[in-house]
Amino acid sequence: MARRNDLEHKALHLIANTGNQGVLQSELWRNLDASSREGSRIAIKLENKGLVRRERELFSGRWTYRLYPKRQPASINSIVNCPCLMCPDDSRCGAWSTISPNDCEKLTEWILILVQRETNPSGET
Ligand code: SF4
Repeated sequence: MARRNDLEHKALHLIANTGNQGVLQSELWRNLDASSREGSRIAIKLENKGLVRRERELFSGRWTYRLYPKRQPASINSIVNCPCLMCPDDSRCGAWSTISPNDCEKLTEWILILVQRETNPSGET
């Protein structure tokens, strides 16, 4: 049981690091030194937990699955344009201060732009 949990954890870590590319199930099991039967069980378990997405794929004439992370690790690029990083009020800003992220227009505008990009990546109206 401990080995399965350990494999599940390692599999999730490897899948999470593949980003949008995903990873073929067989490739993943090879990296984990697991059997395909053991691997398939883990993949199904991770999918049932809502942690990965499995998509059928024809690879070298055989049907298999490609596994994608449902969540990807945050990268520094995700906050590189955050106004707080260069804000002159940074040292005085806090949740309970007079200068607060709760009513900061710069921060709100940045968040809204991110949401807009996420929901409408092509920028079409
Ligand atoms: S929340 Fe606004 S005021 Fe506070 S540090 Fe960020 S940009 Fe500056």
